[in-house]
Amino acid sequence: MTPGTPMTDRTVVVGAALLDGGQLLAARRSAPADLAGRWELPGGKVEPGERPEDALVRELREELGIEAEAVERVPGQWPLRAPYVLQVWTARLRPGSPAPRPLQDHDELRWLTPDRIWEVDWLDQDVPAVREVSPRLTTGPR
Ligand code: C5P
Repeated sequence: MTPGTPMTDRTVVVGAALLDGGQLLAARRSAPADLAGRWELPGGKVEPGERPEDALVRELREELGIEAEAVERVPGQWPLRAPYVLQVWTARLRPGSPAPRPLQDHDELRWLTPDRIWEVDWLDQDVPAVREVSPRLTTGPR
């Protein structure tokens, strides 16, 4: 590795707690096999030199066809398979954005109301982040 290369640029996976009208978007993974069928906060790897918030916007455009913006970082970070860690931002749709649709990596999307948030089988590593976000469903961006 080049001396001085910031490790964090390569190791962060960003997840979006996309909130709209008091509901949280959950996305069911279609691949890889060991994750298929489980639900996650959509997102992906931050590229070298990329700001996490920009990676979030890019991943949401690629995976869901939406125009979104990061709102605020959810405190904490959670280990994935080494060397990755998951960081989560709340996010909202920009005015005029298309509705989300599964374009890559997912085969189903679901908007969850606060009382339904645990009805999907979240990836183990996403559970603590979802737990952090769930109280914001009543107070977060509309
Ligand atoms: O979506 P992408 O394949 O870029 O994500 C990179 C890795 O991060 C995946 O292998 C997946 O296991 C993990 N991930 C996760 N929880 C998320 C988003 C991604 O565990 N909410």
